[in-house]
Amino acid sequence: MTTQSLESLPLTRLKGVGPALERKFSQLGISSIEDLLFHLPLRYEDRTRITAIRQARLGEFVQLEGQIGSTSVQFGRRRSLQCVMVDSTGIIHLRFFHFSAAQKNALAEGVRIRCYGEVRRGRSGPEIYHPEYRILKAGQEEPVPDTFTAVYPTTDGLQQGRMRGVISQALSLLDQAGGLKDCLPPEITRQFKLFGLTESIRLIHRPPLDAPLEWMNADTNPGAKRLAFEELLAHRLCMRRFKTLYAQRRAPALTEGGELVKQFEKTLPFELTASQRQVSAEIEADLMTSTPMLRLLQGDVGSGKTLVAALSALKCLSSGFQVALMAPTEILAEQHCVSFRAWFEPLGIRVGWLSGKTRAAERRQVLQELTSGECQLLIGTHALFQDQVQYKSLGLIIVDEQHRFGVHQRLSLRDKGGKDRLSPHQLVMTATPIPRTLAMSAYADLECSVISELPPGRTPVNTALISNSRRAQVTERILQACNSGQQAYWVCTLIEESEQLQAQAAEATAESLRSKLQNLKVGLIHGRMKTAEKQEIMTGFKQGDIHLLVATTVIEVGVDVPNASLMVIENPERLGLAQLHQLRGRVGRGSTQSHCIMLYQTPLSENSKKRLTVMRESTDGFFIAEQDLELRGPGQVLGTQQTGLMTFRIADIGRDSLMLDDVKRASEELSARYPESVDPLIRRWIGERLEFVNV
Ligand code: ADP
Ligand code: MG
Repeated sequence: MTTQSLESLPLTRLKGVGPALERKFSQLGISSIEDLLFHLPLRYEDRTRITAIRQARLGEFVQLEGQIGSTSVQFGRRRSLQCVMVDSTGIIHLRFFHFSAAQKNALAEGVRIRCYGEVRRGRSGPEIYHPEYRILKAGQEEPVPDTFTAVYPTTDGLQQGRMRGVISQALSLLDQAGGLKDCLPPEITRQFKLFGLTESIRLIHRPPLDAPLEWMNADTNPGAKRLAFEELLAHRLCMRRFKTLYAQRRAPALTEGGELVKQFEKTLPFELTASQRQVSAEIEADLMTSTPMLRLLQGDVGSGKTLVAALSALKCLSSGFQVALMAPTEILAEQHCVSFRAWFEPLGIRVGWLSGKTRAAERRQVLQELTSGECQLLIGTHALFQDQVQYKSLGLIIVDEQHRFGVHQRLSLRDKGGKDRLSPHQLVMTATPIPRTLAMSAYADLECSVISELPPGRTPVNTALISNSRRAQVTERILQACNSGQQAYWVCTLIEESEQLQAQAAEATAESLRSKLQNLKVGLIHGRMKTAEKQEIMTGFKQGDIHLLVATTVIEVGVDVPNASLMVIENPERLGLAQLHQLRGRVGRGSTQSHCIMLYQTPLSENSKKRLTVMRESTDGFFIAEQDLELRGPGQVLGTQQTGLMTFRIADIGRDSLMLDDVKRASEELSARYPESVDPLIRRWIGERLEFVNV
């Protein structure tokens, strides 16, 4: 083996990786062997034993081994491939909604397979939808693994098994190469008692025999600790760098606008809350100086952030500068466009719209109006920040519901102003309340404003915790609600490793609900659908043509259908409280009392019980966020976006909050004494994701 560093070693050096697969990996931001090693598991699965079919219980993930009894294509509402699988103890059905002819032929009668998946209640008894499976060679015993199996994030067309194989090859190369280049100087590693980098990587991909199933989050995993520390450090260094760069720039001082703001307020059918006033004043003070504002605006779901944004925008517009308002999804951006047009057009302000889908002619026109300054407020998605979009004089950028991106990723947008031009002020709005203690250490570099009250007259959503064993009653409840003219959501919250699998799980749920609720129109929405399809479904739901909307967590932000007053959240124990709070915020928007049913899977751990109880007893986002931090101890298997604040690969601000002080000290020492190690660290942990947001 040459000593060529793993960083520059192309993926095609691995067996079975050609250009096609290389492209798939690049979609995941993986272009070298080193990147592969840093592609960390989401969770682990226990495949160390085979469960007898008769012992496979509903809701459990099991590994089964047996023979195919028969395979047939079923024609119900949706075509599916059904395999009957048998072992010496019983029978179970495997069902595939997406399948190929080759797959069908391979799963012929008598073939032995080993499969893994979740047991669900199917049309004719227990079923596993889309199990991961492998055909076993005839007459050959296949050992089960000794340790837990890592599950990685993947993308369409890249099977979990393939991913595992490739990473395992990368680990062998790592062994041969003798390790990875450590960006941290030994002195820092020693001082903060950090585990070695190479050992940490190995430990995470290959959990030891006695590791708990929650190995990624385990308190006893020094590898996870080391990597989390390094990741938090990289983020901190990146934030410092942006903050420093930003402070050196000049922004326009926006001094006009008092009159227009007053005039606008008079047109509103309600009074601003005291909190909205307070926050607006804080922002206004920033906008009047020539240092670029960098402010985070927090406020619970429904607290009226949009209005605060509108007031800031007016300030900027009156001073003769343009405003850009960006939302993370087209659905949300469109809703803003409707509100701002209604508010601003009577005041003679020109509001433009731009998304990735805007047609060429219209696009040309908007771009031209932006350059000329005719278009004063531009609303849209990421498209607002593409290279061709040139503003005449951009004074303020407002980013809404941006909790999906890291802070510095938002900061990188500031470059839109160009090198020697004025930099715009930035207002970032997030609906995920950040507990004060956390904001102090994690966001110390950002200014922060908080809307601390909701407008008067809201009825809190009533929340019930119901065990999955009472699913039939819940379905009945939906039927009643919809028959009396209301609408409902059914949210599937499976943590799956790819959007494709999530979509499939939601499809399966929709299918089963359709067969039980024959008289209702059941719609389905998930992340894999085309924009037009999503819009069609959303419009159908808004207009009341669809009674029950089965959804993945794509509906989490911004969806606003006041007539929907019932929400069922399946497996709520799998989500972070912040995310549950966001989801629940989709109901309780109309005049009827709304209900949220959290349909949990038994048995519920003590900790999950406490967490869900918090949801039942409170609708206060800040309180919930604080409890979330307190209750989310190690051993909690959650998705990567559990806090909703930042997307980390391994760090978890809640779990790792005790590290933050050390991270801060390390970042200061590193900047002062080892400035040369800063760049490689930022590049390793954040590098490619920055570019991604910059496109
Ligand atoms: P969020 O903070 O979740 O973005 P919105 O800005 O969408 O909340 O506001 C939610 C709803 O509350 C909107 O319908 C808005 O018109 C209304 N609203 C905002 N401010 C007030 C207020 N001061 N009094 C009454 N209703 C308000
Ligand atoms: Mg909002």
